[in-house]
Amino acid sequence: MNSSVHITFLGGLGEIGRNCAAIEVDGRVVLLDCGQLFPYKHPGVDSILPDFKWLLEGDKNVEACIVSHPHEDHIGGIPHLFRHLSVPIYGSPFTLGMIKAKLESHEVELPPFVAVKDNETHAVGPFECEFLPVTHSTSGGLMTVFRTPQGVILHSSDFKLDPTPVDGRLTDLNRVSDISKKEGIRLLLADSTNAESEGVSLSESEIGPLIEDVFLDNEGRRIIIGTFSSHIHRIQQIADAATKTDRKLAILGPSMIRNVALARELGLLKLSDEILLNEKELKKFRSNKVCIICTGSQAEPRAAISMMSVGKHPLVEIGENDTVIFSSAPIPGNEASIFRVHNNLARLGAHIIHSGKLKIHTTGHGKAGELLALHEASNPELFIPVHGEYTHLLGHEKIALSRGMDQSKVLRCVDGDSVRLDEHGLRLEGRVSDEYLMVDVRGVEVSKDLVKERVSLGGEGFILVRVVIDKNKRKLLERPFATTLGWVEIEDKDEYLNEVIQEVEKVLDVAIAEGEFDQKELTRLVRRATGKFVDLTTGRRPMLVPLVEIN
Ligand SMILES: [Zn+2]
Ligand SMILES: [Zn+2]
Repeated sequence: MNSSVHITFLGGLGEIGRNCAAIEVDGRVVLLDCGQLFPYKHPGVDSILPDFKWLLEGDKNVEACIVSHPHEDHIGGIPHLFRHLSVPIYGSPFTLGMIKAKLESHEVELPPFVAVKDNETHAVGPFECEFLPVTHSTSGGLMTVFRTPQGVILHSSDFKLDPTPVDGRLTDLNRVSDISKKEGIRLLLADSTNAESEGVSLSESEIGPLIEDVFLDNEGRRIIIGTFSSHIHRIQQIADAATKTDRKLAILGPSMIRNVALARELGLLKLSDEILLNEKELKKFRSNKVCIICTGSQAEPRAAISMMSVGKHPLVEIGENDTVIFSSAPIPGNEASIFRVHNNLARLGAHIIHSGKLKIHTTGHGKAGELLALHEASNPELFIPVHGEYTHLLGHEKIALSRGMDQSKVLRCVDGDSVRLDEHGLRLEGRVSDEYLMVDVRGVEVSKDLVKERVSLGGEGFILVRVVIDKNKRKLLERPFATTLGWVEIEDKDEYLNEVIQEVEKVLDVAIAEGEFDQKELTRLVRRATGKFVDLTTGRRPMLVPLVEIN
């Protein structure tokens, strides 16, 4: 009997972000992606990662990590994990280049890198893995074909079926159907992000001419265009539009500068030195003949566009002669900050163009029609939808069923689920932690309790009450002290705090008279008296900090 294969989903199922799965045979593990989720309501947290405890503890033998492509939801967890682990990382040269820069900036020792070319096969841990090209909103995305003792497992990576990709590198669906016919595909794991959108996505190469039109419409104005720094095909099309409309190009923002250099070095981005302006030239050059490509299309706080929008960019001052283009769609959760940046730029006189107004962006994730085509080509025996919010996973399940797949062949999984694939099929065999591992910018872990405290402080403020009790004289040594921040308006503070003090005195006088000198009990009484008053008068729930000293 062949060994069973076990897949544990550490993240990415039921959320967009922190994609990470462990594929295991006889205790030998290959990690598939290691991403982060961007914090959305977690003050002081810079990155939310999968809980790696299960992976690092026990007798797991992690032998390698395959990275499908260099988006943060697939690579963002690597610096943290690779402080505890050093195994070869497999990926395309562009993916590895971005990971290398990331590890260096976090001062993490570099593990061995194995650069993978399209359609190559490598022995990775206990598996033979074949890597197929996919089109996506970054360069060098790879689908992985895992040959396992239980047949072929196909992981789609984030993908779309772009018939006319900018670099001519097509998603290799032909090879998928070839493998399906010759070997059969036992299990498909596929991207669900756009499962609920009907039809097919717009080709990336259709965006280029639209950008060029915008450039022509804005002749005589300086153009500032924001996009993702890893979206090399978009950057290529922007550069082409600039060249065609006789503009010079300036690249701003550290990640944009780094990724453009990497892509040029790898031959993924064709950009001649003649059209590039350096920082000094950018200041001198007639501004209506300039196109600036930069970061900040998601209103990231320290990115170039965000700095420009508040007049703090050292090289670019926004004025009435500027057109600012957002060539990206807002990532859910970022909308409010993006609108704030739009408004700030508009106040400075800039003309704003975004994907809600004009079609200057297309998704990197296949829609329902493209997902169906992958199911047709792979014709899998079994299916687990991955990479998506729960509703996306359900939408993808429907697509699988729509072509006659039996419900029993689809396994609905979420973060933390561990599944077993053997001769009898696929089944859920257990659960591991799906807790958030939250870390700050230094990579230091932030506990759930600390985040809860920060949320409470940020939302409601705090009240501190300090009392000193003289045990011998059986009375309060002095009038209690109280202070607050964030609870009531500054001008009302004294009045409210006076009343808090009176309430606390009342309660303590009675308790002390009855001979109560237990610090814990007295602290509880101060907290209760304060809380009751706060609730009654203001209905708020500030953090209460009672301090009781007994002399
Ligand atoms: Zn992606
Ligand atoms: Zn992704």
